[in-house]
Amino acid sequence: MCATCGCGEARHDHEHQHTHDHDHAHEHHHDVHRVRVEREVLEKNQRVAERNRGYFAGRGVLALNLVSSPGSGKTTLLERTVRDAGIQAAVLEGDQATDLDAQRVRGAGARAVQVNTGTGCHLDAEMIARALPELRPERGSVLFIENVGNLVCPALFDLGEHAKVLVASVTEGDDKPLKYPHMFRGAALVLVNKIDLLPYVPFDVAHFDTKAREMNPGVEVIHLSALRGDGLAEWYAWLRRATSA
Ligand code: MG
Repeated sequence: MCATCGCGEARHDHEHQHTHDHDHAHEHHHDVHRVRVEREVLEKNQRVAERNRGYFAGRGVLALNLVSSPGSGKTTLLERTVRDAGIQAAVLEGDQATDLDAQRVRGAGARAVQVNTGTGCHLDAEMIARALPELRPERGSVLFIENVGNLVCPALFDLGEHAKVLVASVTEGDDKPLKYPHMFRGAALVLVNKIDLLPYVPFDVAHFDTKAREMNPGVEVIHLSALRGDGLAEWYAWLRRATSA
């Protein structure tokens, strides 16, 4: 999982006794150890995610995990959604640093709590559990969890959400579904943002949609522009259907 970038190991430093002994047996031992630590991290995350799911079910809160690359327009989309979708919304903002995004969605009128992950490249279930008592999403509301912009690690960490919503944008290239299959397979809905820029970028919408559906048959895809407003009615209708389901 995140062994390469180290985010899964951040909380296990005490277990890592690095030595300069690089003989083969040692490396094998290290690999076995790493795999065990990764499994433990994911199992623990899964237990906390189930607890979060119980919290959401008990309060009738629809939790959506918004995943994307950095700069896909998640926060702009949330600002519009909070203002115009006609739903009760609370937002949990995940970023490595700053509370800039929480300030933005508060400005749009939603309750928001910022979670900073430091060196970590994803939110995990424990971070959500710790933030919920402060955020206290209202009964019947939608909780948007804006994950750290990263299409890799957040695919592995269940937060207890009802669904993952993947926000792609036309400035990123239409080959993303092929490059990040895990994330596309896990998404219930794919939003293709920034379609107002289509005249200026070499993005083939039909190719993107085809590849997204090859990765995840039956996935819903909505094309929109959070800036100009195209497609937002369709997104809001999806939200209202998900809320009443
Ligand atoms: Mg953001």
